[in-house]
Order: sequence, then structure tokens, then C-alpha cells
Amino acid sequence: MTALKDQAVCLRVHNYSETSQIVTLFGRASGRVRTIAKGSRRARARFGGGIDMLTAGHVVFFPARSAAALAVLGEFQLTESFAGLRRRLRNLYCAQYAAEMIAEFTEDLDPHQKLYDAFYQALQDLSHQDRPEITLLLLELTLLREVGLAPDWHNCAACSRPVAHDQNAYFSSGSSGLICRKCASKITEKRPLNPRTIKILQNPQTAPAALTQTVLDAHELLSYHQRQLLGKQTKIMTFVNQLLRKK
Ligand SMILES: [Zn+2]
Repeated sequence: MTALKDQAVCLRVHNYSETSQIVTLFGRASGRVRTIAKGSRRARARFGGGIDMLTAGHVVFFPARSAAALAVLGEFQLTESFAGLRRRLRNLYCAQYAAEMIAEFTEDLDPHQKLYDAFYQALQDLSHQDRPEITLLLLELTLLREVGLAPDWHNCAACSRPVAHDQNAYFSSGSSGLICRKCASKITEKRPLNPRTIKILQNPQTAPAALTQTVLDAHELLSYHQRQLLGKQTKIMTFVNQLLRKK
């Protein structure tokens, strides 16, 4: 089996045995790769004594022989540890949330370079900035767009008419978009949306100037959409959503 080389960020790490780790990577050219790093917990040069979540490096791996099997990680040469992230706990948890969503919504060996670059940039931003909810919101929107699950934030999913950003409306995950007030009674699964939240979802570039409350409302809506799509709410989702609401 031919070895592949890539740049990757580590999304998840589980200790597998006394000496090995199961490492889920997000490679720039490879997409998600679930690997076993044999001997990675021993102090060895090729893994530098262990691989940490949310670090980036040059990797060499041998692809899995079947969909159910793990790839074998041959090398992980650390290039960026995002040290500032580890000094900002709220930011670190937001980064873990993002990593989990990427691991959940992407497929093995299905590359998404734009998402990789946005994620890498988000980790750099979270290493230095103090409004993690903005970085998280923008990354969530990029993720949904890149994996083809972006809702329509402009037109009603039921009647196709434009939904103005100065009106109350609804969001339906199952319909993947906004629902206008006229159509609301036809759709059971929906969440109410105020005009400010609709405006930020239609124009995410305005997020840095928006109130924290509005950014969090938009993030929580995306979190609801993710939960509906995944059919589950994970621990880190619950934890981060509570954490961001604390002053
Ligand atoms: Zn409608």
C-alpha cells in the first residue's frame, strides 16, 4: 500500500492501548482520515511522544484496506500546536466543538480544502481573539456550505417567496431553510427566528459588529440544525452552548 503525505489537523484522539492511539485527522488534501498510531504513546521521534487533539502537522499514512478499517499513521511531525488556544478555555472548547462537527459531517478521504483552510484559520484566530462565538458561527456556516448542507437563508422553503430580514419567521431543519409566517402552520418541525438573527445569517460578514446575544442566537440555531441532522446532541455541543451563555 502506498503511503500518502498531507498536512493535517488532529480532530480526535483516543488512547487505544498502553502504547497506541486512535487518531482522527482532517487532512488538507485527504479530508477525514481515521488512523491508528501504533506506538505513539511511547517517546519516539516519529510521533514526538504522543499526538494531541487540535494540533497540526505533516503526516504520512497508509490508507485503510476497507471502509471499516483504520488507516495506519506512519508519521506525525508537529508544525503548529496553537499554544494560545490552550490558554483560553472558552476558545479551546469552541475549537473542540468545531473539530467534532467536522469529524461528524465529513466522510473518510473526501477532501474539503476550503473547509480545512477555514478551520486552520479559525484555530489561529481562537489562539489570539476573545470573541470565540463569532469564529465558531462563521466556521459552522462554512462547514454546512462545504458539505452541501447549507440552509437557504433568503427564501421560504415552503413557498419560495423571499423572507425579509426585518420580519419574524421560522427555521425548519427538515426543510433546510426559512419558513415564512404564512407557511408556518404547514410545518411542524420549526424554530422561531427574530429579524436580527435572520439578518446575521443572511449577512454573516456583519457578525463582528453584532451583539453577542445575536451571534449566540444564530449559533444556537445552527447547533439545533446540526443536532437534527445528526440525530443526536453530543456532550461538547451541550457544554459549549451552556458555556457561551455564561457571562
Ligand atoms: Zn412561505
